[in-house]
Amino acid sequence: MRLWEKKQGDALRCRICPHNCLLGDGERGICGARENRQGKIDLITSGFISGYALDPIEKKPLYHFHPGSMILSVGSYGCNLSCDFCQNFHISQNVTLGQSRHIEPAVLVRQAALTRGNAGIAYTYNEPVIWYEFVTETARLAAAEGLTNVMVTNGYVNPGPLEDYIRVIDAFNIDLKAFSNEFYRNYTGATLKPVLDSIKAIALSGRHLEITTLIIPGLNDSPEEMKQEAEWIAENAGTGVPLHLSRYFPMYRRSTSATPAETILALREIAEEYLDYVYTGNMGSDDGGSNTICPSCGTVAIRRSGYNIKITGLTDDGKCMNCGRQIIETELNQADPV
Ligand code: SF4
Repeated sequence: MRLWEKKQGDALRCRICPHNCLLGDGERGICGARENRQGKIDLITSGFISGYALDPIEKKPLYHFHPGSMILSVGSYGCNLSCDFCQNFHISQNVTLGQSRHIEPAVLVRQAALTRGNAGIAYTYNEPVIWYEFVTETARLAAAEGLTNVMVTNGYVNPGPLEDYIRVIDAFNIDLKAFSNEFYRNYTGATLKPVLDSIKAIALSGRHLEITTLIIPGLNDSPEEMKQEAEWIAENAGTGVPLHLSRYFPMYRRSTSATPAETILALREIAEEYLDYVYTGNMGSDDGGSNTICPSCGTVAIRRSGYNIKITGLTDDGKCMNCGRQIIETELNQADPV
């Protein structure tokens, strides 16, 4: 896959994401992570790590992919979006490598393989699609070691690089920020359609897919928009794709007050008319919104309280213990408890 092409003079066009940045010699793209250096585009953040932690896989959030597992999570710097409500702005909007830790793919994979109770590697925290060379190489090595690869992404990526990611990434959580192009234009510096195209491509590929939407008061919290989003997901990705509705808190440049819990609960009800699994997140109380419930008979299949996960109603092969409906396709709690 050609990641960039030569244009007039010294200019190069990056083809990783739909910004398709045209970069003169020495210029960096919108993401801050890729630079035209003497005739080729370099990933300047390759191997530079902003965060490194063994997290519950539920924290990504992934609720239907090896539930109960832990996963080594890594992130770098930069982002191809510029959301004014970014929850990780200190690493996404600031590419200062300075004293950052540096790690080679093979070393990271060795550490992941040696970490007790670890199911794989999650590329997360900042935006991983712009970290193409590092992610694809690491993921290939990790897969060869029998580790799973997970990507938590905004999905704003061109179809070619996405195909390469689909080859090596087992599970995606796509951050669908809203279901309106106006929202994307006004608050993210991107557009909606490429994200929807990514969701469709991943669903079609058969790779594991979950979707998260951060609900912000007055911006993307209308019942009509939720209905359109849930309906679209059901038709284009499938009714079994888990949707996580996450409560917003003021961050970065946005001071809108936090989303009322009642708004999230009302939107959840709407989404549940179209989708089998709708979860609530960031609620601050244990309201049962993160439990996995069998859509056929209502049995609590997985009970979650914070990151305390209990498989309560599933057979070993992921079926509802009561009615036999398939709920989880992957192994349960693959990793040993840490
Ligand atoms: S990955 Fe970065 S440099 Fe490449 S097109 Fe996207 S924003 Fe521009």
